[in-house]
Amino acid sequence: MPRYEFRCHACADTFEINRPMARAGEPASCPQGHEDTVKLLSAVAVTGRGGAGTSAPAPSGGGCCGGGCGC
Ligand SMILES: [Zn+2]
Repeated sequence: MPRYEFRCHACADTFEINRPMARAGEPASCPQGHEDTVKLLSAVAVTGRGGAGTSAPAPSGGGCCGGGCGC
């Protein structure tokens, strides 16, 4: 289940909530009970989109980390 991070405007706290993706846009109350919260962009959403293969090409020879320097 995706995890969403929220931030409370009332107490400036951040908290995470696990909920179905279909309910991602619903408001959430902070642990202290405040309802003035905003959903933050979470890293979970980014990783869930992987597999496109559009990341930077791996270094191959010539440059650092190409295997020659051992870094
Ligand atoms: Zn709060």
